[in-house]
Amino acid sequence: MSDFYPVDPAFAASARVRKDDYQRMYARSVQEPEAFWKEMSGRLDWIVPPTKIKNVSFDPNDLYIRWFEDGQLNVSANCLDRHLADRGDKTAIIFEGDDPGESRSLTYKELHTEVCKFANTLKNLGIAKGDRVVIYLPMIPEAAVAMLACARIGAVHSVVFGGFSPDSLASRIADSGAKLIVTADEGVRGGKKIPLKANVDESLTRPHTSSVETVVVVRRTGSAIHFQSPRDRWYHTLMEGQSETCDYEPMNAEDPLFTLYTSGSTGQPKGVLHTSGGYLVYTSLTHELAFDLREDDIYWCTADVGWVTGHSYVVYGPLANGATVVMFDGVPNYPDFSRFWQVVDKHKVTLFYTAPTAIRALMREGDGPVKKTSRKSLRVLGTVGEPINPEAWNWYYRVVGDERCPVVDTWWQTETGGFMITPLPGAIDLKPGSATLPFFGVKPAIVDADGKTQEGECSGNLVITDSWPGQMRTVYGDHQRFVDTYFKTYPGNYFTGDGARRDADGYYWITGRVDDVINVSGHRIGTAEVESALVAHPKVAEAAVVGCPHDIKGQGIYAFVTLVAGETGSQALVKELIAEVRKEIGSIAAPDYLQWAPSLPKTRSGKIMRRILRKIAENQPDQLGDVSTLADPGVVKNLVEERLIK
Ligand code: ATP
Ligand code: MG
Repeated sequence: MSDFYPVDPAFAASARVRKDDYQRMYARSVQEPEAFWKEMSGRLDWIVPPTKIKNVSFDPNDLYIRWFEDGQLNVSANCLDRHLADRGDKTAIIFEGDDPGESRSLTYKELHTEVCKFANTLKNLGIAKGDRVVIYLPMIPEAAVAMLACARIGAVHSVVFGGFSPDSLASRIADSGAKLIVTADEGVRGGKKIPLKANVDESLTRPHTSSVETVVVVRRTGSAIHFQSPRDRWYHTLMEGQSETCDYEPMNAEDPLFTLYTSGSTGQPKGVLHTSGGYLVYTSLTHELAFDLREDDIYWCTADVGWVTGHSYVVYGPLANGATVVMFDGVPNYPDFSRFWQVVDKHKVTLFYTAPTAIRALMREGDGPVKKTSRKSLRVLGTVGEPINPEAWNWYYRVVGDERCPVVDTWWQTETGGFMITPLPGAIDLKPGSATLPFFGVKPAIVDADGKTQEGECSGNLVITDSWPGQMRTVYGDHQRFVDTYFKTYPGNYFTGDGARRDADGYYWITGRVDDVINVSGHRIGTAEVESALVAHPKVAEAAVVGCPHDIKGQGIYAFVTLVAGETGSQALVKELIAEVRKEIGSIAAPDYLQWAPSLPKTRSGKIMRRILRKIAENQPDQLGDVSTLADPGVVKNLVEERLIK
């Protein structure tokens, strides 16, 4: 297992950004941000080009963040209209359904027509600039159509992941005050039906949801559903006879584009608000450079549009770049564990982007399901969502990418809009487990608990010292929460909530959320590093590490471990795993408790919910808090019963 992969010279030869370009452009981006971002803004079509580029104060008592503030543009026009002349017949979206027999595609021309028709539909239903629209759909092209139609008329969308319950949906409807919901009769995932419309009906019986006047329903499965007239309307009926053109609304760069709730792994989800100009400049530029995008690439990001990754890197970034995007409505293990790679072969995917949780789940099944496919079209692999342990990184690189494709480990957040720390594949040498170096314009710093900036090799709390165009502008309806959450802890800086280490080469290693850093006898230990050592054992599929009370050390280390398919836990294996951590990191990091976990509690975007595990490890099972964003609340019961501290 190597821990260093220099840029492949053959890849670099034709890359968009090479090593010396990176250094030169990065230096310019932080020394002359105004000039740099003015030039970068030229990648979009502006109705009125911006002359005021950056106007920002991170002072918590007087906070404002404005980019390109006198510019006017329309996001949907940038994702569609401007491509029509040269790319009208190019495929914009390849849809791959849950059922391997189902796929279809739309050209840019066709997508433009659909978006115009739906924008007209929305207008007919009384939706105007500034109105909020909730989108609760499966991963079908209509989700992108609905988002772009909102953007076209200046309505603010709030996409809610189709896996959320009626209660979670209701709280998001109430928070946004939406007038209209776009949903489907049902969704299908892994062969199972999801009652989307019934969930909407139920959510609308909850308090504070009476703002909703219309529910537009896409027919996906054709099953019988309850229809309430005149509130409920069929998408296909409404679209009939609509004009295929629709003028786009001129929007100020700082007009809201969407709100989106974070995944809720640390607490109550926040309604993150993103605006138009800076967001699109930033997502399109990061997408183009981190994936080294080419005109003929087939790009596939497996994230759902319900997450920010689906916003920035399924819809807005790629379509602004005129890319061909695969939209996948299925899951990695249906019909079997080969599905991802079969889809790669079927559509000749060149750029593939997924999450560590999926990589680890597939790794658990061995190399067989991967190796029976070709994957020779692949050029770049990406990962996002959690720290990726080097073991999984290497498997992804070696088995999935046949040691041919650079892996871009992109660190970013719902709040940041786009990639913040990421390799550029032709420019930056790779170290498995490190998100490497900052993107253009991003100024990371590591501070200690008192906010003192650390120099050189160090670890601590990751902050960003200056603004970048893709930054969120506020928490919807609660600006004070925005200020308090991100700008009060280390005044003058944006606080990410993540811990990080910087090595001698200036590379950043995300060690997990700051709340997850464990203080053992005064030593700060990142959960990610202990987990990584555990997962390096061939019998371990996944591990989650949290702190627990410890009389002598202050905090002890409590590990939850999931074994690979077919293995069972034993006392001997516990000893072996603890010895492994001792060897890899040192005795200080050796787990005090190791509990076998048939599976781990995860958010619906696949992230381990450590705050729940922490409560179990602290023997406070009655204080688990809000578990409504868990994908499968059932897994918690077993872990509580089998807990080791009682
Ligand atoms: P909430 O803020 O509600 O707790 P969340 O932080 O999980 O939810 P997201 O914005 O989707 O919501 O996730 C961003 C977080 O995911 C980052 O702060 C970081 O902890 C983690 N993360 C994302 N990408 C990476 C990566 N490449 N390496 C390490 N961690 C990552
Ligand atoms: Mg977060």
